Amino acid sequence: MYVLPHAPPPQPVQPAGDRFVESAVNNTLPALEPWPGLHRFRVSVRTPPPVQHGRQPPYVFDRETNKLYVDMIIAVTFAFRVAEGTDTTRLRVSALPVYPDMHHVNTPVRRCPTHRLPELECNNGAGSFIDHVIRAEHDDAVYQEGGTTKERRSVVVPYERPPPGTLDYLVSYRFCCMNTCVGGINRRRLMVLFTLEDSSTGEALGRQSVEVKVCKCPHRDARTDRSRALPKQRRPASSPDPQEPPSRRPCPAGRLVVEVDDMIEYDHLKAVLASFRAARRGLLRARSTSDSATPALPASVSSDTTSSERDSPAERRTLFKTEAP
Ligand SMILES: [Zn+2]
Repeated sequence: MYVLPHAPPPQPVQPAGDRFVESAVNNTLPALEPWPGLHRFRVSVRTPPPVQHGRQPPYVFDRETNKLYVDMIIAVTFAFRVAEGTDTTRLRVSALPVYPDMHHVNTPVRRCPTHRLPELECNNGAGSFIDHVIRAEHDDAVYQEGGTTKERRSVVVPYERPPPGTLDYLVSYRFCCMNTCVGGINRRRLMVLFTLEDSSTGEALGRQSVEVKVCKCPHRDARTDRSRALPKQRRPASSPDPQEPPSRRPCPAGRLVVEVDDMIEYDHLKAVLASFRAARRGLLRARSTSDSATPALPASVSSDTTSSERDSPAERRTLFKTEAP
């Protein structure tokens, strides 16, 4: 029997002109477009671990908008994947924070002066990377600074082979400034640019991104963003107009549920609801008193009167004038 000689697996060949020779951190203007590349590089956020005692998960990832909501210093697990059979020994992943909006994309993302203070507990042991907004939970993480202004800061980890039976390589990252930090992100949109690189040459081989909002109440902010997007994306043409008065809008499911973050919000909303119901009861009582004070229509008139006429005060006044003795 003829046995084929062992041959190495074919290496992917990139077409000319489809290469990014420089590492992401060396570009003054980083490219933001997703680019799986020949290794079919993909990035996702792992579902947060289950929590106990009714507490909410530490972060929220909205798959539809590809946006992560997380509090500061909370570890978020990202899953990286490349095409099955790819030789990962010479691969690495760079995580670079950028401002995706056109007016700010030139500006490097810097940590704010407050959170850069060495005496903060969150900066214990953060010698060389105290200025970095993104930290990687990896022993071999390398913190880089680059760009023409030397202010773009990224963190690079080696791409390790996933454990047997899984396709995802997991790395946890922490975000060390809030989106609202003055002198830092300063309420600008924030995006993390993940670049798959050749660890020998720094050549970019693939790219993905995830928008991130670092905030105190991730669940509340995610719900707010979803509700803002809802009228534009999901509301069918037959849905009631939100500008219509609430009293005319039907309740779609009989009862509606409002989610709250904690007992303070729950107690506050409960008090507002009790106050609203009391006011509404008073209003209905006043209306019924006012209606009962109006004289009843004569039987001959009411039996011949249509509903539209009964609802019209002008018509009612006219009929009384005609029929009254
Ligand atoms: Zn900060």
